[in-house]
Amino acid sequence: MPEGPTILNLKNRLVRFKGKTVTEATGYGEMDKTPLHNIKLMDIDAFGKNLIFVFKDFFVTVHLGLFGSVLINKRKKSNASFTLHFGDEEINFYISKTKLINGKPDKHFDYRTDILKEEFDGQYILSTLQQEYAEKMIGDALMEQQLFTGVGNIIRIEALYRAKIHPESLVKDIPEKKLIYLIETVVNYAFEFLEQSKKEEVKEKTLVYGRKNCPKDKSELAIEEMGKIKRKTYVCPKCQKRYQ
Ligand SMILES: [Zn+2]
Repeated sequence: MPEGPTILNLKNRLVRFKGKTVTEATGYGEMDKTPLHNIKLMDIDAFGKNLIFVFKDFFVTVHLGLFGSVLINKRKKSNASFTLHFGDEEINFYISKTKLINGKPDKHFDYRTDILKEEFDGQYILSTLQQEYAEKMIGDALMEQQLFTGVGNIIRIEALYRAKIHPESLVKDIPEKKLIYLIETVVNYAFEFLEQSKKEEVKEKTLVYGRKNCPKDKSELAIEEMGKIKRKTYVCPKCQKRYQ
């Protein structure tokens, strides 16, 4: 599944369509596409794992999900779920979910939680984490999109390893200083991921995701589905402390 930085890269690749007129919108997706015909694309934005096409009175979010993909001026053999046509040019989305929402995206979404936005507010995340997620495992809390918007499994695993925290530690048991360090690590790693994904070398450069041994002490990583979210997790039992 694409993570926040992957979507931000995609947004940057599509930004040249900004200001162009959508001549037609098609695709087998259920969303009514007639409001998009012959109107100007005002902006392209990203919020976490959502790509956002902004029009004057509404916006359309595209979520790529596990199997989604996008092609610019190229087509697959299979039908696109959503296509934006700009005269001779087109953006094709496959196996993606779209939603039309009235108003402006920054009024609809809370940008303070997006790990890649200037508006990201670490203090707000820290207090929400401590107040509303105290009883949760940190490995689960990191995947909550309303709290850590844009975090996916790779960012989650790499940030926990770098911050030396075991994913099964409950939020309430982790010292505040450690939580602050973890939040900083999530953001810093997300920007590293952004740079690496431009060259498609994210998976080459991970420290523990997809690996068998800890790069530091060479001990065997615990690889299993952990927490309530049941996502494959890589943990070094020596480096990552289980707070309790
Ligand atoms: Zn280790």
